Amino acid sequence: MTIQTENLSQGTIAVRGGLNTDDQYGSVVPVITPSTCYRYEAFAKPREFDYARKANPSRRLVEQTIAKLEGGIDAILTNCGMSAIHLISVALLTPNDLVVAPHDCYGGSYRIFNSLSQRGYFKAKFVDQSDPIALKEALSLRPKLVLIETPSNPLLRVVDIQEIAEQAHQVESLVLVDNTFMTPILQKPLELGADIVSHSCTKFLNGHSDLLAGILVFKDQQLATDVLWWANNIGTMTSSFDSYLLLRGLRTLSARVKLQQDNAQKVVQFLANHPKIAKVYHPSLPSNLGHDIAQKQQKGFGSLLSFELVGDADTMPTFLQSLKIFTLAQSLGGVESLVCHPATMTHSGISAEARKTAGISDQLLRISVGLEDIADLLADLKQALAKV
Ligand SMILES: *Cc1c(COP(=O)(O)O)cnc(C)c1O
Repeated sequence: MTIQTENLSQGTIAVRGGLNTDDQYGSVVPVITPSTCYRYEAFAKPREFDYARKANPSRRLVEQTIAKLEGGIDAILTNCGMSAIHLISVALLTPNDLVVAPHDCYGGSYRIFNSLSQRGYFKAKFVDQSDPIALKEALSLRPKLVLIETPSNPLLRVVDIQEIAEQAHQVESLVLVDNTFMTPILQKPLELGADIVSHSCTKFLNGHSDLLAGILVFKDQQLATDVLWWANNIGTMTSSFDSYLLLRGLRTLSARVKLQQDNAQKVVQFLANHPKIAKVYHPSLPSNLGHDIAQKQQKGFGSLLSFELVGDADTMPTFLQSLKIFTLAQSLGGVESLVCHPATMTHSGISAEARKTAGISDQLLRISVGLEDIADLLADLKQALAKV
């Protein structure tokens, strides 16, 4: 069941993932395969699939499509982004192994590395990867795994994947890039030297905020096979129905990412010139940390941005309650525009002092710009800003 996608562009790969793979009826859209088990052809002759904990056709189509999009050789689809991170930790790390992660990595990744290392499963160190001295120091400990997340959450700081991967490889570390914020449409970490790419497919890859899934994409087949052994061992699989929905969401990935990015660029311009906005964070802005790296490393600046509202604690609820289109909710990457207040939502688990050190003020908001008409989005922001 291979997809013929040699030399095709990403938009085409995404649109056509899994089409025309049904040999029984010739259905254009692939069938959903809920079966947990597969009939042997004969005694001691299993087919491509035997038991669905390890692999099944619905999942396989998504894995092949996302692997092609990222330029990888194989992929493993899991039931959410965190289970993908958990899976790679379990598969790779033993008690003496060290994982080095960004100090401002996704909260869930921080929590899983922190809690599992406290229990002695492995060691974890969090560093500011934009600081060359701190990075060098951490790499001198010869970590087994280095996690990179760029742009970061919520300040959209960009680090150099190629540079960090080169240094990590000198000490024989494996490099994992969480590419959730960029998607393969805007950033190809495997081409920049990473060994593994992870995603929360819950976000842009599905794009419709109606399922949880995660994925690991590999450059090396042996590593993929070893990690699949662990995936089957602990049971990290996604359901057939969610796999089907995800494949459907992927068909519009390229179009969505580009249009959401166009919308976001206009929101950035609007906010950057507004008197009630103190600061805007977006990789397109020269003031953003790593703007020059983003220009060479990314094919676009993406549709996530953050900004600081002028005023005090009272302005925040007034502004948020006045918004009519932007929904106050925690996720990102869907077709609908969302707004998030990191201090009370995504980053509330971090102490106020640590938030301050990280540059996450109480006046900071993060926006995931969706696919609504840009005129309506700008009008919504404008009327809400007029109330504060
Ligand atoms: C959401 C997210 C995750 C976790 O994914 P889930 O699907 O929610 O488990 C991991 N990394 C990043 C960057 C995310 O945004």
